[in-house]
Amino acid sequence: MLEDKVVVITGGTRGIGLETVKVFNEQGAKVILFGSREETVLKAIEGLKKENIMVKGYYPDLLNYDEVLNVIKEIIKEYGKIDVLINNAGIAANKKIGETTVTDFTNIMDINVTGMFNTIKAVVPFMQEAHQGVILNTSSMVSIYGQPSGVGYPTSKFAVNGLTKSLARELAPDNIRVNAVAPGIIKTDMLSNLPKEQIAPLLKTIPLGRIGMPRDIANAFLFLASDMASYITGVILSVDGAAQN
Ligand code: NAD
Repeated sequence: MLEDKVVVITGGTRGIGLETVKVFNEQGAKVILFGSREETVLKAIEGLKKENIMVKGYYPDLLNYDEVLNVIKEIIKEYGKIDVLINNAGIAANKKIGETTVTDFTNIMDINVTGMFNTIKAVVPFMQEAHQGVILNTSSMVSIYGQPSGVGYPTSKFAVNGLTKSLARELAPDNIRVNAVAPGIIKTDMLSNLPKEQIAPLLKTIPLGRIGMPRDIANAFLFLASDMASYITGVILSVDGAAQN
C-alpha cells in the first residue's frame, strides 16, 4: 500500500511509533524514525535489524526548529522527498492541578504541541514543492472527553486536533492531507507508567472489552497514509473501542 513512499515517524523508538515503523515497512515504505536520544534510536534500529527491517534514525531536539530543519534537509538530500510525516512523539501527565507546576504544564505543551508544529513547519515546504503529502498526528481520546487529572495532557491533545483541522484546510490546495488518530487505551510503556487504580476503571468503559494494541493504531495510520484515504482530510479518527473516558 505504500511502495517506495518515504515516511518520517517521530517517537518511532517504541510503543505505537515503533509498531507503525514495522507496519509501514511491511507495506513497502522507506521509513526514517526519530527518537529523543541517540541511545534509544540506536536500540530501536538494532532491534528492527534483527527482524530484517532496515531503517535510518535521527534524534533532533523537536523543540529546536533549526535542528529539525537540518535533519529534514538531510533526509530530502538522501531520499529526494518526504511523502508521509507522522507526528507521534508525546509524553503524558497524571498529576492533579495542585501538584502540577507551571514547568510541568509548559513542558508537556512544548513536546506535544510545539515539537509537532516545528516538525510540520520544517517538512511542509518540501511537500508544497512536490504538490503532495500526508501529515498524520497522534492525538488521544482525551482530546474528546478530557481526563480527570494531568490537565496538560488533554490540553495538548485538544491543541493537536486544532492544529490538524486548521492545517487540513490551509494545506488542501497544496494537495497535502492532514489527519489525526485519537487512540484509546493502548498497551505501551506510556500506559504502564500510569497507576493501576487509574487504568482499572478505564478498562470497564471500553465496550469492545479489551485494551488496544499498538498495531490497532498503526493500521489506522496505514489507512490514512494510503491512497484509500485520498478524500479524507481534517479528520480526528477515534481508535478506542468506543471508550468513554
Ligand atoms: P511511548 O512512551 O511508548 O512512546 C513515546 C515516544 O515519544 C517515544 O518514541 C519517545 O522517544 C518519544 N518522545 C517522548 N518524548 C520526546 C521528546 N522530548 N523528544 C522526542 N521524542 C520524544 O508512548 P506511546 O503510548 O507509544 O505514545 C505515542 C503517542 O501516542 C503519544 O503521542 C501519546 O500521547 C499517544 N497516545 C498514547 C496512548 C496510550 O494509551 N498508550 C493513548 C492515546 C494517545
